[in-house]
Amino acid sequence: MVRSSDNWKIEQQCPQCGAPVVLEETDRLLSCPFCRVRLFISPEDFFRYYIPPADPSMQEAVFVPYWRFKGMSFLCRADRTEQRILDATALAADYNRLPHSLGVRPQAVPLRFVSGDLSPHFFLPHRSFESVFSWIEKRLLAAEASIAGLKAGRVSKDRVYHRAYIGETTSLIYLPVFIRGNVLCDAITGSRIAPLPEKESGGLEFQKLDAAKLSFIPTICPRCGWDLHGGSDSLVHLCRNCDTAWKISGDGLEGLDFAVVPAREDSRLYLPFWRMKAGISGINLNSYADLVRFANLPKAIQKGWEEQEIHFWSPAFKIRPQLFQRAAKAATNAQLPVEAGAEVPKAEVFPVTLPSEEALQGLKITIFNMAVPKKKILPVIDEISITPRESLLVLVPFGTNTHEYVQREMHISLNMNALRYGKNL
Ligand SMILES: [Zn+2]
Ligand SMILES: [Zn+2]
Repeated sequence: MVRSSDNWKIEQQCPQCGAPVVLEETDRLLSCPFCRVRLFISPEDFFRYYIPPADPSMQEAVFVPYWRFKGMSFLCRADRTEQRILDATALAADYNRLPHSLGVRPQAVPLRFVSGDLSPHFFLPHRSFESVFSWIEKRLLAAEASIAGLKAGRVSKDRVYHRAYIGETTSLIYLPVFIRGNVLCDAITGSRIAPLPEKESGGLEFQKLDAAKLSFIPTICPRCGWDLHGGSDSLVHLCRNCDTAWKISGDGLEGLDFAVVPAREDSRLYLPFWRMKAGISGINLNSYADLVRFANLPKAIQKGWEEQEIHFWSPAFKIRPQLFQRAAKAATNAQLPVEAGAEVPKAEVFPVTLPSEEALQGLKITIFNMAVPKKKILPVIDEISITPRESLLVLVPFGTNTHEYVQREMHISLNMNALRYGKNL
């Protein structure tokens, strides 16, 4: 796995006027500079791209799949949680003589979406992301275990008690190759990359294009017909006319409930959070009283807290993993009340760039980080099981001081630059 140097770019023809439009990898919105049409782009399941062959007339290209993933990986150790950003590609075809990653490629050539144009070509089938990722994880774990082994006597401190991966981008990128004699060659550079497998071992399995449908959806509110608001990379868009929220889903827009934390002071910015309800077993963490005890918060337990249900909170936007887990913990500890059926705030709303399904992956990390002292959770961490019940989008008002956005009641402050750079994570 090699870290890619930069985000990929994607070239796509405008569905309305045919002009070429270059998109960022994180864009969910195509804005045509020529005919001015604005359309959401939505894949049936995940995005599939290909690197165009150097010779566009090449008839015999075979496409090899690579999983592209970006996200945050967390490791819980006895005394700390370590985090890192994963940004890599990994071979998805079942033939391990091929390069294990796409490596660092000159990004001069933009990717294209896989479409019906490729139907004359052959593809190698792809393994599931889960199976490829668990192999990557094992390799990471093995590397870490050998480092731990070197520091004799400190093994338990270096033990990984729990690990989680929160993926923000998972897509498939196809590398075109061609066959010359008994070798496979890269169709961009022309260089040899792998021998063809022996016929006796079954050879390579080819398949035709399995049509990946890409939908282009008008950016107008399905209820009232007004233009929707949201950044080009946002997964959720708001209608400021009829106060509704919409999520890109399949070939259309799906209504999404949202709530707002009432603002105590003038706010220039609302940040989106997921507020999740989950059944927790293996530890006592069901009521607000449980939470105060579990996190050892400096509060005297009041009547009614034993019955008051709790929610787990997570940022719904990308930010450096260290800030992400800190904000998730602080927001969960705060348990702020929310107002449902509220209007869309007049102030700016930061784009939702992390889906709720991914936020759920971080729940155990939040629980681990909340525990004070840590030693009470370490022996039971494997027994904790989490059953997600529901998630709600909550818009949280932030105030500002010189360089930070601040949420006083949640005790969260986020550096303005960190928030801006988070968009490129
Ligand atoms: Zn156009
Ligand atoms: Zn509307």
